[in-house]
Amino acid sequence: MKLAFFDTKSYDREVFEPKLKKSKIRVKFFDTRLCEDNIALAKGFDAVCVFVNDEVNSKVIDTLGSYGVKFIALRCAGFNNVDYKYAAEKGISVVRVPAYSPYAVAEHAMALLLTINRKIHKAYLRTRDFNFALKGLTGFDLHGKTVGVIGTGKIGRVFIDICKGFGMNVIAYDKFPMEGSDIDYRSLEEVYRDSDIISFHCPLTEETYHMFNLGTINKVKKGVVIINTSRGALIDSEALLKGLLQKKIGATCLDVYEEESGYFYEDFSGEIISDEVLSRLISLPNVIVTSHQAFLTKEALENIADTTIENLITLEKEGTSPNEVK
Ligand code: NAD
Repeated sequence: MKLAFFDTKSYDREVFEPKLKKSKIRVKFFDTRLCEDNIALAKGFDAVCVFVNDEVNSKVIDTLGSYGVKFIALRCAGFNNVDYKYAAEKGISVVRVPAYSPYAVAEHAMALLLTINRKIHKAYLRTRDFNFALKGLTGFDLHGKTVGVIGTGKIGRVFIDICKGFGMNVIAYDKFPMEGSDIDYRSLEEVYRDSDIISFHCPLTEETYHMFNLGTINKVKKGVVIINTSRGALIDSEALLKGLLQKKIGATCLDVYEEESGYFYEDFSGEIISDEVLSRLISLPNVIVTSHQAFLTKEALENIADTTIENLITLEKEGTSPNEVK
């Protein structure tokens, strides 16, 4: 099998290359994302491997089909960037890595919460400059606070366990609550109304697009901390900014951003970025943005590579895979 590997970063290559060498898959790594503009790179390959910000829409799929590409392997859990229904119509199989390390993402969500609350990012910069003043660094105890978890799948459940370890009161909303669990499920309205901290762990779908918007911001507690490590477009970013400026939202931690695809994973440190909402969010003292890095642990990268390769081998052998997106 010939595989075109898109949006390659050094850490992808380090983990994938030795494993692929041991398989019968021949790979070519491309730095660029797969999108309409550079689709020609996929010519001559049987499969493409893509990540969270590649754009695999119906036009791209049509062209992939005309090149004879049979498999699209997502090396991530979310699949909102691939029109998998259209791919199925064109006879192209889509596979993903449904679970590689829920701990990586849940631990990152807690790291963000601890950082924004105890102002570790500011303290680090101060002490490096021998500024040992504490003014402005006051946080609050997480113990006893109510955290609302939206989406109680693999990552949401690990996050719940972590929060319980901190002595927090956990309430949750899920469209499909887990039967027989001891999770304290509430309506979405109640989670918005009663939480001191809200963390998003549900997938991006038509239904969840902008589920946190101007209307819902009116329903939350004043001073609520919002964490999103799931997908950017769950949150209407302009509304979020407004909520922060009006001081209704106390703080925000974002590992994902709805317009991230043009920026995240690249170095724009020498440039002026044109996304005014992102610039303004980053400029606020009570906002932390990380660049979709919650997945980035050694264990997760190993698991991602193993499952992606296994998915492709199984698809080629059996024409289907348990990790197929249908
Ligand atoms: P999962 O499928 O195990 O869990 C998702 C949960 O969301 C399920 O319990 C499901 O019932 C629930 N859900 C579905 N629709 C919902 C709705 N309308 N409202 C509320 N809940 C709903 O997925 P997971 O492995 O826990 O991952 C969650 C999300 O995290 C993924 O969809 C992905 O977008 C994101 N993610 C981000 C990173 C990162 O690096 N930042 C890494 C991995 C995954």
